[in-house]
Amino acid sequence: MALLRFFYGTMSSGKTMALLMAQYNLRNIGEKVIILKPSRDTKANDCIQTRVAGGIEVPVDVLLKPNESLVEYFEQWAEENVSRILVDEVQFLTKAQVQELWYFTKTYNIPVDCYGLKSQFDLSLFKGSSSLIGIADEISELQTIAVCTKCGEKATINARYKNGKIELPGGEVIVIDGSDAYEYKPLCGKCYIDEVERLTGKPLIKIPKRKINRI
Ligand SMILES: [Zn+2]
Repeated sequence: MALLRFFYGTMSSGKTMALLMAQYNLRNIGEKVIILKPSRDTKANDCIQTRVAGGIEVPVDVLLKPNESLVEYFEQWAEENVSRILVDEVQFLTKAQVQELWYFTKTYNIPVDCYGLKSQFDLSLFKGSSSLIGIADEISELQTIAVCTKCGEKATINARYKNGKIELPGGEVIVIDGSDAYEYKPLCGKCYIDEVERLTGKPLIKIPKRKINRI
């Protein structure tokens, strides 16, 4: 039975690099691979791009529009003897699209590997990722080194900054890295709390008698 797998990590954890490595290795042995990316990720248009190793760019086969159904592609992929589907930035998929991919793995016996972020800057799950956590056959954290940009410990949070200030929950959900005024930084949990509390001067979660040093 083919699996639907979810590989997650923070920004700069090497997700795109891992996807590009997988497509390279598979295509190198003559396998037919389909690369799929949601059109909501406007970075690099219809390519998959990584800044690692001087920059690599590979064209995508399907640029999936929001709410576009994937079922139209199923027969075509089966006829073309596709051996694997690779999905980049899977957090932007809808629940229905994730369910279609799961259904595809089971009915056509072709595996689907999804790469993406797990949670948003406000620590809640992305829709696509929450659907995957519910339905994927395997979920793994990419074992690469995403380091906190403040202290160098393992990063687990995608903090978002607007004009240099960390953003608190409640902001616009989808902002692509590199947009004007916005910047994403991987942080560890401790540095995220420190950054938010220094900005607001208030504890993220109130503990009686704990004091915050505001700068
Ligand atoms: Zn840190």
